[in-house]
Amino acid sequence: MMKTGKLAVLGSINADHILNLTHFPRPGETVIGKQYQVAFGGKGANQAVAAGRSGAEIAFIACVGEDDIGERIRQQLAKDRIDVSPVEVVADDSTGVALIFVNGEGENTIGIHAGANAALTPARVEKHQQVIADAAALLMQLESPLESVLAAAQIAHQHHTQVILNPAPATELSDELLSLVDMITPNETEAQILTGVAVNSDEDAARAAEVLHKKGIGTVLITLGSRGVWLSEQGRGQRIPGFRVEAVDTIAAGDTFNGALITALLEQRPMAEAVRFAHAAAAIAVTRRGAQPSVPWREEIDSFLQ
Ligand code: ADP
Repeated sequence: MMKTGKLAVLGSINADHILNLTHFPRPGETVIGKQYQVAFGGKGANQAVAAGRSGAEIAFIACVGEDDIGERIRQQLAKDRIDVSPVEVVADDSTGVALIFVNGEGENTIGIHAGANAALTPARVEKHQQVIADAAALLMQLESPLESVLAAAQIAHQHHTQVILNPAPATELSDELLSLVDMITPNETEAQILTGVAVNSDEDAARAAEVLHKKGIGTVLITLGSRGVWLSEQGRGQRIPGFRVEAVDTIAAGDTFNGALITALLEQRPMAEAVRFAHAAAAIAVTRRGAQPSVPWREEIDSFLQ
């Protein structure tokens, strides 16, 4: 069981430009959109917001550009119960941007410009090492420089802060980094990239989890979209189904799951109960459009579960 305490999140901040269309444009094609929205996103910020709104005490290590949208995002994060003192404003840089198409089936394709997220260097991480040392858990993703993710994991390890890695977007990772991770939460695609095992069934998920355990990771949670999650702890695996809802768009489903999961674990709930809490939060998020606008507050999650 995780010790109780504060959460540190290290990760990205983006302004998401979301266009809903009937179908994705093919090369050379122009498609007229049906709906357009600018929403605050970035995997780091989404997970921080999911943790803050679901009830965690959280500080966020991140960078924004020296621009209006960066300032608006910082203010919004503070309203979402996040300590934004480790969010730095990077001079002469722009806040990260994601250009998102959502088709009629609710699927998305995404292009990203890192902007100020690329300025979250190991030196900046070290500046905020006390935030990591003071936390019971550190949650990270892969929209920040990999060397910075490694540096933060090393600091966490030294201070007995649990390291939770959501390895998104999908990329291969060094054994050095993986050996510092206590809990990993890939989706099916990310699990395949990390392990070489294509995850199409529970048996595949169990095999992929085994590969990750062998790299030194105690707890593996492979998210399976509408099928829920494969939970594997020290070789004991089980699938925990999610909730059946009408999905509008799945942007930030995984992010909401991660943020809410850590909140519940820091409240020292048993793993299966924490997963159910996270499933409920993510199920609410997929019934709403956008990243942070779709992330539910604690009261909404609790009443969903009643
Ligand atoms: P990602 O968004 O990172 O690809 P997944 O698609 O695996 O992650 O979804 C993460 C979690 O979000 C799932 O474990 C589940 O709790 C929830 N979820 C995703 N899609 C749906 C859906 N269609 N209906 C209900 N819950 C969903």
